[in-house]
Amino acid sequence: MAVSDEPAAATEGRAAGRLDGGAVGLAGAVLLAALLGPVCTRAESRQLAAFGAAALWVGAWGCITDRWALPRGLRGLAVVLAAIGLDVAGLRIDVLKLPFSATFVSLGGWSLLVAALWMWLCSALFARAGTIPGVAYGVGAVACATLIAVCALRPDPGRVLALWFAAAIGAVCVLRLFALSAAKPAQATAGAYLLGFLLGAVSIMGMLKNTAFLAAVLPLLLISVPLFGATYAYVADLRRGPGRMALAQRREHLHWLLLREGYSPLQISVLFTVGAAWCGALAILLVALIEVSFALKTLILVAFLALGVVGGFVLLRILPRDRGREGAIRLLGVRITPVSMDQALAHAREFIAEGSPHMIVTSDATGVIRAQEDPELREIMDHADLVTADGQGVVLAARLLNVPIRERVSGVDMVQRLCEVATEAGRSVFLLGGAEGIADAAAEKLQAAVPGLRIAGVQHGYFAPEEEPAITERIRDAAPAVLFVAFGIPKQEKWIRAHMAEVGVPVCIGVGGSFDVISGRLKRAPQWMRKCGLEWLYRVMQEPRRLPRLKALPKMAWIALVAALRGETGDYVD
Ligand code: UDP
Repeated sequence: MAVSDEPAAATEGRAAGRLDGGAVGLAGAVLLAALLGPVCTRAESRQLAAFGAAALWVGAWGCITDRWALPRGLRGLAVVLAAIGLDVAGLRIDVLKLPFSATFVSLGGWSLLVAALWMWLCSALFARAGTIPGVAYGVGAVACATLIAVCALRPDPGRVLALWFAAAIGAVCVLRLFALSAAKPAQATAGAYLLGFLLGAVSIMGMLKNTAFLAAVLPLLLISVPLFGATYAYVADLRRGPGRMALAQRREHLHWLLLREGYSPLQISVLFTVGAAWCGALAILLVALIEVSFALKTLILVAFLALGVVGGFVLLRILPRDRGREGAIRLLGVRITPVSMDQALAHAREFIAEGSPHMIVTSDATGVIRAQEDPELREIMDHADLVTADGQGVVLAARLLNVPIRERVSGVDMVQRLCEVATEAGRSVFLLGGAEGIADAAAEKLQAAVPGLRIAGVQHGYFAPEEEPAITERIRDAAPAVLFVAFGIPKQEKWIRAHMAEVGVPVCIGVGGSFDVISGRLKRAPQWMRKCGLEWLYRVMQEPRRLPRLKALPKMAWIALVAALRGETGDYVD
């Protein structure tokens, strides 16, 4: 992502002067709600009309300042005038309830000032976050949902208006999220500015007295202020020595920091929305448990926030990012080469061109855990030419340790792709392993899928030791470009290591139970399960005997999480 400097990007976008669809949508929806309000809510039409007019006014000013690149302070002025209008119509903050106590503070003559400041703050914060529109509308949708849930939990006639407008604003936020192309940051922030104003104003309609709405806006307050940049810089300094970040970066807003770290605008929007939803859930829970003791509520708050911090950390780490780097990493002591499928195939082409024997290991969580307990397997993986991450667990554990594996490269996918590579090179493949008849059936299926594929030979995997020399001789004489060995990990890796020099095949790869899947003996997980990294679940459902092997997954996840929380990262080893 090439965005590095908010002011520059903002100026450029403002020069383009596009009308912000969000502002138009929000103003339109609020106006419609104000018109229908008297029928549906039986609320006072003066307040409805004032709110509709304020939305139109702030939205129009936002669009004008965006369109003609006028000083943004003018929008603040518009909010102050709108606050006066709302106050005259009777929408004001009379009292504030202090969080976690039954004390109410009467604002008296300060009411207008507090309301204007509050609305200005909300709109300014949303406008800042609005440079990534998904952030503003995602958090806005969550804030509206929280508001509606709280109103449902504690019905109050005074909140009818808040509920009514929250539904209208929330609907626009959701529609806007669907309509947004989150591919690039937007610069027209009139919509986000209006959204902040509207949410600030809606919260005044009987909601500010409640802890709940504050909790929904709190995440935005926290994440929007440069405080985060300063804290991040402080922690980075502590961990890696002073002066790790430039002054400008120290004052950076979280979403800009994340953009610079390689997250996409879409990912950032999702992160913020999930964070806001977490805080919203906490708010709803606190309202539902309003009667329980103060100590219990504090405990829930602390537990929720602590879980949120750990969850946020894990989420930040496991999202894929654009900051690829060549070389192998050491994941929990085991060597993995973080390549994509295309990169793995490019390596395979090189191995075939070179002609000398090479070994590819495809390792899932079982492989990583086995390698920790089996020094021979670990040593084999240390010296293999490529060790791909054949499992979502390995991909996620690596990302948790801050090493960027973009995708899973599984043995079963590699089989067909390597057949294509061999065919392109005018060479053949050899299938070794699986129960009797399985490798033959897999070979047939592969020939049907890859036109022109030559099968140099097929051999099942249950042969006697005395048959082995004849088999290796057959492979050597057939001279395939790729030898697939399907005995399961670690038997196949040990076999390859012992025989690769003898058979002289350029690409020797262990592919576990792939022949069972390709032959059709076992069904492959549906595409959506593969995409979600749930192929292991499907396999266990088909073969319950695999269940004990699953314990490798939580074991690896736990070791990786503890290591990551301790600040350890996966090292590059070459
Ligand atoms: N297998 C074999 N010879 C053996 C042991 C196993 O050919 O001596 C085959 C077995 O039939 C199965 C595959 O190796 O097709 C192992 O599959 P599994 O799913 O256990 O391996 P994974 O994919 O988990 O490594």
